[in-house]
Amino acid sequence: MDDSLYKQLLDEMYDGVYFVDRQRRIMYWNRGAERISGYSADEVIGRFCGDNLLRHVDACGRNLYTGMCPLAAAMHDGQPRQVEVILHHKHGHCVPVLVRVTPIRDSHGEIIGAVEVFSDNSHQKAVQEEIERLRALALLDPLTGIGNRRFIENNTHNRLEELRRYGLSFGIILIDIDHFKAVNDTFGHLVGDDVLKMVARTLVHNVRAFDAVGRWGGEEFVVIAQNVSIATLESLAERLRVFIEQSSLPVADKVVHVTVSLGATLARRTDTPASILGRADQMLYVSKQRGRNRVSVEEDTSVLI
Ligand code: GH3
Ligand code: MG
Ligand code: MG
Repeated sequence: MDDSLYKQLLDEMYDGVYFVDRQRRIMYWNRGAERISGYSADEVIGRFCGDNLLRHVDACGRNLYTGMCPLAAAMHDGQPRQVEVILHHKHGHCVPVLVRVTPIRDSHGEIIGAVEVFSDNSHQKAVQEEIERLRALALLDPLTGIGNRRFIENNTHNRLEELRRYGLSFGIILIDIDHFKAVNDTFGHLVGDDVLKMVARTLVHNVRAFDAVGRWGGEEFVVIAQNVSIATLESLAERLRVFIEQSSLPVADKVVHVTVSLGATLARRTDTPASILGRADQMLYVSKQRGRNRVSVEEDTSVLI
């Protein structure tokens, strides 16, 4: 391999890599080092590590360059070493890094410099995982463990994009527990919470694999049903109605039953999340008006899609 290939490999490494000469003058600085530190090669090459550019400190906050930095130590005793330090990013914040230092010798065995490899990878991964966890939490309803209102809104937004781009149909079913206030009044709020969990579980277990379920708020739930006609949407809603009617929650010597009213509608290309959910809400209202424990579906197919 020629030298330019070695250099290219080093340049592309994810870890930070740099070389210093005996005086700790920085001779090379790769892209990983730019990424982790915020300093470009132009800003650091030719500067001295002892200038305290990166202001490495150890875990206790002691400035490493007032004592002996790992590069100086490795060149002093000829031993490679590994140490966890904190470097100051160009923007000022602290970045914990794992530093590995190895002295470089010439053909006579004389130490002519040192190479430092430093990585923030594991730390960054942990932060990334934490962000993913928080993102998931932000979309979950804490009581029932299913998606929350924001999840439904995001999902509806994405489905609408797919409808407009690829013509993939979907429908929305809005579900409201009938006379839920009476359940709370009769059995108490905690039993009411258990009923909400029961309804959520029934929905999750009875929608199809690609459908999404979320809690819209209070005692209202939403199902987003993919790839449906008005007929399949209606039969899915009817199936959910029956399963909830058939579910029961044992409480002391009694059994609590609830029914739900449902409103369903197919998405249109011109919809927004608010307009489609508004239409499902109108259909839900029709179900309540007709006596509850029933499904109403928007029938006006002439204007669909
Ligand atoms: P309708 O058939 O017209 O829907 O009557 P309803 O009693 O279900 O409707 P209403 O809107 O009057 O009452 C909803 C009740 O849901 C009132 C509220 O206290 C209760 N609720 C909302 N969120 C929760 C919750 O997280 N836990 C419990 N236990 N109750 C809740
Ligand atoms: Mg309600
Ligand atoms: Mg209700």
